[in-house]
Amino acid sequence: MDPSFSTQTIQKVDTKKVKEMLNRRKGKMKRFLSHCAHCSLCAESCFLYMKHRKDPHYMPSYKVINSLGKLYRKRGKVDWKFLNEIKGIVWRNCVLCGRCYCPIGIHVPSMIAFTRSILRSQGVYPQRNEISAESWL
Ligand code: SF4
Ligand code: SF4
Repeated sequence: MDPSFSTQTIQKVDTKKVKEMLNRRKGKMKRFLSHCAHCSLCAESCFLYMKHRKDPHYMPSYKVINSLGKLYRKRGKVDWKFLNEIKGIVWRNCVLCGRCYCPIGIHVPSMIAFTRSILRSQGVYPQRNEISAESWL
């Protein structure tokens, strides 16, 4: 795990709630995930991807596949460690600016925002010292 992105006190994940949240928006979110053609056309419109010298970890498609995509693949059966592993992807690696352009209409920021709300429901979110850290950009 990224040492600059510390964990909070370990808690038990309410997997029933996570599953409920995933199910509530399952239609739209799974459609977005399954329609992604992995064409990478969205990548260069993400300033964080460009700022990090085209590091694939900052590609919009990578971010959703490895956060929300994994939550759906695991059907919400996740633990605290997993939620903390994806915390950096959805808070540090994306600022929800909405600049990423997808020609087939996949809306990455709404997927990242949804993932944030799931993490927040389980008490997983950036701490004050993490928000002010230079490492966010
Ligand atoms: S989100 Fe859209 S532009 Fe980006 S890789 Fe998927 S299909 Fe291509
Ligand atoms: S919303 Fe996120 S993924 Fe899209 S351009 Fe902004 S920082 Fe990049």
